[in-house]
Amino acid sequence: MNLQSKLAILADAAKYDASCASSGAAPRDSVGGRGMGSTEGMGICHSYAPDGRCISLLKILLTNFCQYDCLYCVNRVSSNVQRARFAVEEVVQLTLDFYRRNCIEGLFLSSGIIQSPDYTMEQVVEVARVLREEHDFRGYIHLKTIPDAAPELMERAGRYADRLSINIELPTAEGLAALAPEKDSAAIDRSMARMAIHIGEARAARKEQAAQAIVSMPQSRTTRRASVPHFAPGGQSTQMIVGADTTNDRTILATSARLYGTHRLRRVYYSAFSPIPDAARALPLIAPPTVREHRLYQADWLMRFYGFAHEEIVPPSQGGMLALDMDPKLAWAIAHRERFPVNLNTAPREMLLRVPGFGVQTVDRLLAARHMRRLRHADLARLHVPLKKVLPFVEVADYRPGRALEAADLVAQLAPPPVQRSLF
Ligand code: SF4
Repeated sequence: MNLQSKLAILADAAKYDASCASSGAAPRDSVGGRGMGSTEGMGICHSYAPDGRCISLLKILLTNFCQYDCLYCVNRVSSNVQRARFAVEEVVQLTLDFYRRNCIEGLFLSSGIIQSPDYTMEQVVEVARVLREEHDFRGYIHLKTIPDAAPELMERAGRYADRLSINIELPTAEGLAALAPEKDSAAIDRSMARMAIHIGEARAARKEQAAQAIVSMPQSRTTRRASVPHFAPGGQSTQMIVGADTTNDRTILATSARLYGTHRLRRVYYSAFSPIPDAARALPLIAPPTVREHRLYQADWLMRFYGFAHEEIVPPSQGGMLALDMDPKLAWAIAHRERFPVNLNTAPREMLLRVPGFGVQTVDRLLAARHMRRLRHADLARLHVPLKKVLPFVEVADYRPGRALEAADLVAQLAPPPVQRSLF
């Protein structure tokens, strides 16, 4: 099989991994010569570097052969798909070629499991080693790791990669046992814990070295010490499949909160289950609505940046599911009208962050502005916030919402207009 055919198969096989900003787009393509462009794209994805830059990555599998039989996965051993495998040198060469042509800024490499978790992990690590040590490749590398692989291999992976990830796959251990019987949620947890320790230790050591370098600045020219090696400076992330089993959003967010808290994950990616050919009977026939994935990302954002606890975001009364027709912050505010209106001139930052329509930046600007003067209605207009959404929940020197908050039709006023769902 030539390299181009392998690339077509192994880039397509990698598209189910959600660690890519474009994964939530509606399916569109230009097959048949109509229109231009496609969201069914594969091969190059966009991701975010630790400094927030959006970067393009070559996103491929080393191989889509796999000895495991995870029911939700198109590459499982019992799946009837065309298989291919890259040699280590082929991935290295492709990465360098695309990089030199300015098509990518890095590599996202995952793999099916062949021979053994250790053997597979060795191959994945070898790609990163050759790129870094033999070609002095300075681009971004994201490696998907295999939880059952030996800890030494994980350590080596961390030395070469900017980011490491282990997929938790399903939100609960029971779900994983039912749909991916060869995977072990305890092993996934142990690997994440080990990685968190390594990442933390490497960061602390580098910080200490930087601090010492400042103190001993005059001698630094004569006593230059080897710098502490990096270990996955972009941290670790994971992916959770949503809608492959009946787990509700409350449980999904509880799992994410635990991962952020216990293993200090940088990101949890939510991937709406997509039906696959020859699917097992245990799987749903249709994908969950894409908006569910979107609401989970919004809720995740509320936990990480807005001070919400996961159990506040989805009350048990809604069957543990996020509302699909409005964003979770607005849904929370409407359910807690007694906490509003928030006085923008006196409220603490934590409460300002809970106002629908306010982002973190807006809140910081408001806090800076109110040091200078009392905030007025015109200040809100200047901040370009969505006034229709914000005004029922705030008061300023010359504005109070009156009875707007009590309006029985507040939900109808603020919810976005209904959109007809696609038939397909
Ligand atoms: S181990 Fe990974 S590649 Fe293999 S079947 Fe499971 S999810 Fe798919």
